[in-house]
Amino acid sequence: MALAIVRSICTACGDCEPLCPTKSIKPFKGVYKIEAETCTECEGESDSPQCLAACMEDDCIVPA
Ligand code: SF4
Ligand code: SF4
Repeated sequence: MALAIVRSICTACGDCEPLCPTKSIKPFKGVYKIEAETCTECEGESDSPQCLAACMEDDCIVPA
């Protein structure tokens, strides 16, 4: 279970990065990416994915 950032939609605002409890969000090719190996969809940390709650762009963070 993991989420992914759609590169063509991400504005590289960086708002999601510090909120990730597993530090799975990293700068990548001018925008950001989510490491699928470590993303837990915030299970056990929050009721909902924190990156998704922070991102202002529609359909930018989607199921991997
Ligand atoms: S869903 Fe949670 S664990 Fe996964 S990248 Fe977003 S903030 Fe990090
Ligand atoms: S909050 Fe959304 S637009 Fe901003 S860096 Fe994260 S994924 Fe990209």
